[in-house]
Amino acid sequence: MCRVIKECVTTLNSQDMIKLIKQLAGEHAIEAEGLRRLLAACGDDNTFNQLRDKAAQIAREQFGFGIFTRGLIEISCYCRNNCYYCGLRRDNKNASRYRLSDEEILACCKDGYSAGLRTFVLQGGEDAAFTDERLVNLILQLRHQCPEAAITLSLGERKAESYQRLYEAGASRYLLRHEAANRDLYEQIHPGEMSHANRIDCIKTLTRIGYQAGMGMMVGVPSQTIDHLVEDLLLMQKIRPAMIGIGTFIPHPDTPLGSAPTGDLRLTLAVIAITRLMHPDANIPATTALASLSPTGYLDGILSGANVVMPNISPLAARPKYEIYPGKEHSQNDITSTLNNLSQQLATKNYHL
Ligand code: SAH
Ligand code: SF4
Repeated sequence: MCRVIKECVTTLNSQDMIKLIKQLAGEHAIEAEGLRRLLAACGDDNTFNQLRDKAAQIAREQFGFGIFTRGLIEISCYCRNNCYYCGLRRDNKNASRYRLSDEEILACCKDGYSAGLRTFVLQGGEDAAFTDERLVNLILQLRHQCPEAAITLSLGERKAESYQRLYEAGASRYLLRHEAANRDLYEQIHPGEMSHANRIDCIKTLTRIGYQAGMGMMVGVPSQTIDHLVEDLLLMQKIRPAMIGIGTFIPHPDTPLGSAPTGDLRLTLAVIAITRLMHPDANIPATTALASLSPTGYLDGILSGANVVMPNISPLAARPKYEIYPGKEHSQNDITSTLNNLSQQLATKNYHL
């Protein structure tokens, strides 16, 4: 049993939990105490399995057995920020950095489009080289080249005016995990120069502009408790984002949190399952962190209620360098074999891309 679960010593009744799961699946909303009890009860195999089964059932009712695929392009691993958990932080002098050219990004999307992908996610560190002008240009070219594709950005915190310009150019979705709803926890995993209030403001701004906004957090960051996760879940219950990305914390040795233990995969799956019960129609990816911790990670995520996979379609040479954490899943396969391998894994449980 993991640290976070152990700290909640409660007398747990499996039948009560099953009632709670059913209630949550029907109402999609819950109070803090119910969440606390459910998370604490996930150490019990019966509760954990029932929770995941219900979440996967709700996802199938909404999306069927078809899993959405998004092509992920990691456009730059330069970052002006210094998040204590991330290998791309600016003070990590051991990082080997790259920045893709517009031509390289467009070539990745072209290949992905030919392979059938219809959503691209451009993700990266907060890299000043990606000015609004450059991104607007890139988005316009991408729309011309791949007319049916949806463009998702995940480039961190920018000014409202910048988000607006990128939206007007044609980006329609933006992933910006809130990282921690609790301000003290946020401040423990970020340097003082970063602001919790600004992070949340950015998410609200994105939604106001009209983006489908994505929130989320890591499970298992140092000092995180069950109560912190409850706050994360309640914040997302209030904001109701269109997308929710939840991964497991994996320590990177060249960061201030490098000697902390890896987060608990099982607890991550439980949090994903609860999230699905709370947000039946949200797009919830089976994140790379899951696949990095287990060969069946993508499938495990889907069997916990996730409905999206985001295969990496960055240039092969770049993939090992985008090292947010060590051991990050980055197959050296081309798009076709990546999609084939994913399809085979999903087909073992009757899912398909
Ligand atoms: N710079 C952008 C997007 C790239 S980072 C941003 O920060 O929003 C994307 C996500 O990777 C982050 O939101 C964070 O939750 C996750 N991440 C960073 N370091 C990690 C680690 N050590 N373990 C697991 N996930 C991590
Ligand atoms: Fe930069 Fe994002 Fe990593 Fe923070 S999490 S250091 S903003 S890439």
